[in-house]
Amino acid sequence: MRTLQGHGTRAGYYRLHINQGIPVCGPCREANRVYNVKRRRAAGMLPADEFNAARRAPCGTAGGYKRHLKASEPTCIECRAGNARRHREYMRTRRAAA
Ligand SMILES: [Zn+2]
Ligand SMILES: [Zn+2]
Repeated sequence: MRTLQGHGTRAGYYRLHINQGIPVCGPCREANRVYNVKRRRAAGMLPADEFNAARRAPCGTAGGYKRHLKASEPTCIECRAGNARRHREYMRTRRAAA
């Protein structure tokens, strides 16, 4: 029989927090993060933060516009234009369908 693991392990992360709906403590969060990074690397994937940076939506698209909003930063001219263009297209297709 396996001994029960405590905080600062991935087992603890699930058993002591997730399964019981208790906020995750620092050591458990770190253990889970380290596990995820290892797992992603083993699968030939980038860690979550690098992955997110790599797939950041470029400016001048609706995705880029949302990225600015999410980061609570001012939207740039390209993104505002991209978002307005998308909105116009959306309105046009709506009218065409009606
Ligand atoms: Zn914990
Ligand atoms: Zn932008």
